[in-house]
Amino acid sequence: MEFYRSHVLVCGGSPCVAAGCRAVRDEIERCVKEQGLDREVRVIETGCLGPCDLGPIVVVYPEGTVYSRVTTGAAREIVSEHLVKGRPVKKLQYVGELPAVSAADDKRTDYFQIQKRIVLDNVGIIDPESIEEYIARDGYLAAGTALTKLSPAGVIETIKRSGLRGRGGAAFPTGLKLGFTAKAEADQKYIICNADEGEPGTFKDRLILEGDPHKVIEGMIIMGYAVGATRGYIYIRGEYYVSIERIERAINQARWLGLLGTNLFGSGFDFDIEVKKGAGAYVCGEETALIESIEGKRGEPRQKPPYPGTSGLWGKPTVVNNVETIANIPPIVLHGADWYRGFGTSTSPGTKVFTLTGNVNNKGLIEVPMGITLREVIYGVGGGIPGGRSFKLAQTGGTAGGCVAEAHLDIPMDYESMQSVGSALGSGALLIIDDSHCIVDVACSLLRFFAHESCGQCTPCREGAARLLQIFNKLREFRASQADLDLAMELARVMQGSSLCALGQSVIVPLGTIMEHFQGEIQAHLHGCCPTGKCSPSGAESASAS
Ligand code: SF4
Repeated sequence: MEFYRSHVLVCGGSPCVAAGCRAVRDEIERCVKEQGLDREVRVIETGCLGPCDLGPIVVVYPEGTVYSRVTTGAAREIVSEHLVKGRPVKKLQYVGELPAVSAADDKRTDYFQIQKRIVLDNVGIIDPESIEEYIARDGYLAAGTALTKLSPAGVIETIKRSGLRGRGGAAFPTGLKLGFTAKAEADQKYIICNADEGEPGTFKDRLILEGDPHKVIEGMIIMGYAVGATRGYIYIRGEYYVSIERIERAINQARWLGLLGTNLFGSGFDFDIEVKKGAGAYVCGEETALIESIEGKRGEPRQKPPYPGTSGLWGKPTVVNNVETIANIPPIVLHGADWYRGFGTSTSPGTKVFTLTGNVNNKGLIEVPMGITLREVIYGVGGGIPGGRSFKLAQTGGTAGGCVAEAHLDIPMDYESMQSVGSALGSGALLIIDDSHCIVDVACSLLRFFAHESCGQCTPCREGAARLLQIFNKLREFRASQADLDLAMELARVMQGSSLCALGQSVIVPLGTIMEHFQGEIQAHLHGCCPTGKCSPSGAESASAS
């Protein structure tokens, strides 16, 4: 075994890759070698550390010194000063309010203190390309325990008691879903990991896969054992190339160590996983459209029932869950249902991973206990609204989620409370918008997404989304009437009741909450006035908005 006096972690989440972290990593490695320190200092590219807009981020351990927005020039200085002379480079350190490890004494600020990392416990800490590092953090212990000490029914019982619910939007109890497929009689069953998140602002599943791919593999093994499935698929967006690279490498490593394949842990249970790449249609995140796509057909939702649990991939019983849900399984099996219920609320136990974006100081990947308030997330973890502006709204749960206003800042973020204000936790995208933005403009932007992503299979969604966009574009140009708005709401209700899948059904959620919580601003547009000065009769931004 090799020991190093320093570890240099270079954040390798997609946002940091885009910001040039690989050139920084290469430069640090080169300088470390030049200085003859390669037997003392280990450089590791990790998964996402969280604060994405500060990248490339470098953390030097054991001090825990954080350097943000590191350039290749800064990388050379970090090596020559910090690693060679033991003097942290103060001018390069991140010492802003949040987020970080304090420059002085390694005390974690609110950014990390408020978070509870169960799914993300390894993300940003280990090398995601090393199965040994995952194993060193108790990786595959849960799978080994499940396969050798628990019965399939025992695993399902543990998941049921944990209260885990699907983290992809529908919030269906995971244990119940596993139970349906376990009971189904079939010669072949499947586990599908849905890694096709396609909503704007949603990228948590991608970063979980990039940062801790083995946890997802381990979760799938346990689920396969629980329901009697011997084959798994990970359906992933083709453009998520870092995730694809890492999960494929992780699958090969697991096969190499006999953690995938036949007779796992000597239990007689066989399980293997294949990666399927999607072409990037939002609707393929819907479980039956995704199944169609894996089968080689056009990705369009199926009529339900039958549900995939009894008739899914190639007509066989299939469990479909998203990445975050599956990544919750190993810790639950390892630590038990009671441990898991110790986080969150009684009806929404555990944690929730969000991608925090928009007008907030600390954007990025976070994991917080269920039941935390929106205020704590925005002003604690998120560090508040930049530029001295005020909070206007948060869209929780992605484009198909609801828009909540200032009056809802203290509502707990759990399934039930969010539902009580017409919203949802949904996909885990949390978009914060300040008071400089116009609500009608926000509505148009959301409706553009629905119109663009409708697969066109059913008329209410195909025609309705386009018509809604027309109406709100009219409102933005002060040409709409109350009758137009009444028609829009009626249309959204028809889409909710008659569309085949959640895309058409859920347009009512953002639209309904916007109409309810921002009525005054909507009404002002009917009378030719945009309170933020963004809208004008020509449709262009008015001069006062700039
Ligand atoms: Fe396609 Fe929309 Fe119908 Fe869903 S609701 S199947 S996206 S047309």
